[in-house]
Amino acid sequence: MQAHFLPWHTEVAREWLGAKERFAHAWLIHGLAGIGKREFAFAAAASLLCESPLKGLACGQCPACGWVAKGNHPDLKRIRPEAVAVDEGLELAEDDSGALEEVVTPESGGATKRAPSKDIRVEQIRALEPWFNNATHRGGWRVALIYPAEALTTISGNTLLKVLEEPPPSTIFLLVADAPDRLLPTLLSRCRRLPLATPSVDIARQWLKYKDVQHANDWLAAAGGAPLLAKQQSESEKSPCPDWIVDLLTSLEQNRPLDIGTVADKLSKSSAKTWLDALQRLSIDLSLSAHGLPCRYYPSMQKQLHSIGTSERTIAFTQLTAWLNEQKRVAGHPLSAKLFAQAVLQRLLQTCKINTSGHK
Ligand SMILES: [Zn+2]
Repeated sequence: MQAHFLPWHTEVAREWLGAKERFAHAWLIHGLAGIGKREFAFAAAASLLCESPLKGLACGQCPACGWVAKGNHPDLKRIRPEAVAVDEGLELAEDDSGALEEVVTPESGGATKRAPSKDIRVEQIRALEPWFNNATHRGGWRVALIYPAEALTTISGNTLLKVLEEPPPSTIFLLVADAPDRLLPTLLSRCRRLPLATPSVDIARQWLKYKDVQHANDWLAAAGGAPLLAKQQSESEKSPCPDWIVDLLTSLEQNRPLDIGTVADKLSKSSAKTWLDALQRLSIDLSLSAHGLPCRYYPSMQKQLHSIGTSERTIAFTQLTAWLNEQKRVAGHPLSAKLFAQAVLQRLLQTCKINTSGHK
């Protein structure tokens, strides 16, 4: 992981770190998904641990900066779900399977294979105790990065709350969240907030071009202005507007029948959060169209959006957007991924007042 602040966050970081003598022991770093909050938290940890910071920021040269870069600074801990750790390239240890669910996969011929947990488990918080109880290794700060904080369960969140109520000495907790409203209110009340802004379109576009992302404008629009998300999607998706949304909108516009079973099947194979985000963007674009405004996320589908997003459906689209947001809360644990996707698509089509056989 890089320990540099992204260009649009450097100034706020300097200001924030400059007030270190009044530093709170727990911070909630929040803002839109995909603007670089984790990068910010990691660079902040590096700056707090650096032994010869330059104007408050990590020097990148001292032993502490070297350990942070290699991921082995003894005064830095990353507390994140196993699934996130695996995405970061960590191999799961065989010996800590105690509290983990086991899944049977057909590929393993019925043998059990453990699925990486999507939660921050209470064991992970409890395991920090010896670390808190000893003096820091380098005599400075000790930093605990917790991300995404939404992955804290009620139990692990409450266990963390107890720690924050009587914070260990020289320790700074940096919690990172896209959606602070999904955290325990008691936990929120123990954290100072540090909201991070979304960069301006110009700065984000410049950064994407520097990162060699083609059609930066469209990717940035589809990602709601979040440059890191735009870059990630440009690497993993074929086009800024997902194919299935193009098909969906085209069918709706032409009043053609749509086989939602096939679409649901396809969606159920990817992360529910990803396709729910895409549907939410679609819903907002439909809402804007219903108000006669240009769409924000999928400008290439403007024609179809305007024909479906008609003014008498204004309220229905607003309700749909809120309903989709609600679905994200349960998205991590649906009983059946396919049935869940099917139910969501059904609701979308109902709002567009077109039934699945294609008749209005
Ligand atoms: Zn340093």
